[in-house]
Parts: sequence; structure tokens; C-alpha cells
Amino acid sequence: MKTKIDILKMNYFDLENSCLELGFKKFNVKQIYNWLHQKNVDKFEKMTNISKKNIEILNDNFLIPSLKVVEHQISRIDGTEKYLFELHDGKLIETVLMKHKDRNTICVSSQVGCAVRCSFCATGINGFKRDLTLDEILSQIYHIQRELVSKDEKVRNIVFMGMGEPLLNLDNVIESLKILISEEGLNLSKRRITISTSGIIPQIERLIEEDMTVELALSLHAGSNEIRKNIIPINVKYPIEDLMKVLWKYQKTSGRRITFEYILINNLNDTIEEAKKLKELVKDFDCIINIIPYNPVEGLNHERPSRNRIFKFYNYLKDDLRLNVTLRGEKGTDIDGACGQLRQKQKKLKLDVKNGNLEEKIIIKNEKN
Ligand code: SF4
Repeated sequence: MKTKIDILKMNYFDLENSCLELGFKKFNVKQIYNWLHQKNVDKFEKMTNISKKNIEILNDNFLIPSLKVVEHQISRIDGTEKYLFELHDGKLIETVLMKHKDRNTICVSSQVGCAVRCSFCATGINGFKRDLTLDEILSQIYHIQRELVSKDEKVRNIVFMGMGEPLLNLDNVIESLKILISEEGLNLSKRRITISTSGIIPQIERLIEEDMTVELALSLHAGSNEIRKNIIPINVKYPIEDLMKVLWKYQKTSGRRITFEYILINNLNDTIEEAKKLKELVKDFDCIINIIPYNPVEGLNHERPSRNRIFKFYNYLKDDLRLNVTLRGEKGTDIDGACGQLRQKQKKLKLDVKNGNLEEKIIIKNEKN
């Protein structure tokens, strides 16, 4: 049997080459690309301006891949939706839809697992499994976008803050960015896309070189190398002072405000001393510091600071050091909160099932029930 090509793995150039070889006209290619990447159809039959004969050719030669929803949790508190998707090889990834008043933000995964192994993160616990392919990155967004469109809504922002370090899968991430910002795709402005990174310096340079300077959020989490290297091991390779240099270049080239993410961990990085060091690092940037009180993860040692300590740190940055700082409100606290937790839970459930400790009880929820 003929192997069909996964059509979402193709950029415009590849799609055009394949379609022209199959006898399509150039204008057909634009139509097909538009159906796939702007209207996000999941079946060729839905491409209503393509002839029946051409739909047949498409079906004979290509497939539109889709992700299987293993679990879909919806927060009763704020409407945050968390999806656990199964990939073709059985691996699991998480994607989150965050609802704000006037905008929907999708938090996308870029890898299965993660090699960076930040000390606070559920995703890093089992290490790196593999990169997501271009179609797997896009399919997370397109699946949710289809559901949004059916409710007369749409995605406004995309953040690469899910599982994995996006800059360690940069080829596929850049290809996805090109499609997401293209006029024939979702036509999102670069300002509506954020990459969150632990700070992979050569790849930040590459974003600059390739003019893919979307919004950048750096996981800083400390004001000093001494503390940061215990939280983000890759800090040993890419220390803070080198990171600040490349971020400065990024800001000068792109004019983007930098977001510094700061997960606040009890008795580790939540001291006044660390706050002062943080100020020295960021004082010349146009930036915002996003304080995120740590959400405990089973199997990891860190603790969340008390409410008192959280506000002491936050107020010191804001009022005493006069920094531009936000304290992140938590989303979806009634569902499996932090990145990687839903997958961890599901894996444990599967393991228990395998060991005969539980009856298989995977709850699949969708909009209809
Ligand atoms: S926080 Fe991000 S970079 Fe760090 S281990 Fe988790 S997924 Fe990887």
C-alpha cells in the first residue's frame, strides 16, 4: 500500500512542489494551505472549493494527522482547559487553553519530556523522550482552534510554555512560527506568540538571525548563578552574565520587552538578598518580572513559600526596588496544575492498571458530555 504523506509536516514550499507534481495548479496550493492552516480542517472533504477529483488525489497521497484526546479537564473556577493528547507512538503530551476576558491563549508543548531537568518541573522528572514534529506542534493548536471556532471564539495568543524546551527543538518550532504568522495561516502577529526558554544562548542568537523575534520569556528564577544552577542545571553551561548579553542583543534588535519568569521557591530564591541581585541583572532592560509561587509537584523536594513570604518578596521588588513586576494568578487550580502533572498522573494510572492495582478508568471528556 502506498504510504501517505503527513501534510501538516510540509511547509508551503514542500506542499507546492508535491501538489504541482500531482497536477494541481498553483492557486490550488494556496487554497489547500489556507484550508489546512487558517481554517484548520481535519478532512480534505471539507475543502469546499477543491474539486472532487482533486480531493480524491489529496486523499490518495496525503493524510491530515490528528491527536487523540486521552483526557480533557475543564476548571470550574476559571474555565482553563487542559488536554492530554496521545501521539501516534503512544507518547503523551499536554496542552492548555487559558481563558482570559478577551483572549484565548494556548500553551503548547514542544517536546515529549525534557532534557533540561529544572529542579521544580514535573516534565523533567523522566528526562527527554523525543522532539515533537512540526505537525504535532501545529495539531495541538489546530485541535483547540477548531473547538473554539465552533463556539464563535478563536485563539489570540500562543505560548510555547508547555512540555519541553522549545529552543532545543528549534527547527520545528521555527517552521511552526513561520506558518502561524503567515497570512495564509493563522496570521498571528509575532507579538501574540511567546517562547519561554531556560536560556539556550546559541538558539536565542538563531531567533535573532532568522528574524523570528517573537516575545521571549526567560526562566530566570534567581538573581545569582549560585542559586540558579541548583534550579536550572543548564545554567552551568549558559551562565547568567552571558544570558543577559544575548537578551540585550535580542531586545535591541527586536524592540521586544523581555519577560523574566521567576518561580518562587521556599527558602531558596525568595530572599531579599536574591531580590537585590535580581534588580542588578534586569535594571537596564525594558522588562517585566513575573513572580510565580511554586506549585508543589509529587516527587520533588521544593516547597511553596508562605503567603507572607510571597508578598514580602513581591512587594520588595515592586515598592522598594521599583521594578515592573507581576504576581501570577494561578489558573486551573482545581485541575492538574503545573506542566507535566497531568501526564505524570496518567502514566501512574496506566502503570497501576498494568500492575493490576486498578481497573482501567481513563476518563475522556469532551464538549458533548
Ligand atoms: S521547566 Fe521547561 S525547560 Fe525546565 S525541565 Fe520543565 S519543561 Fe524543561
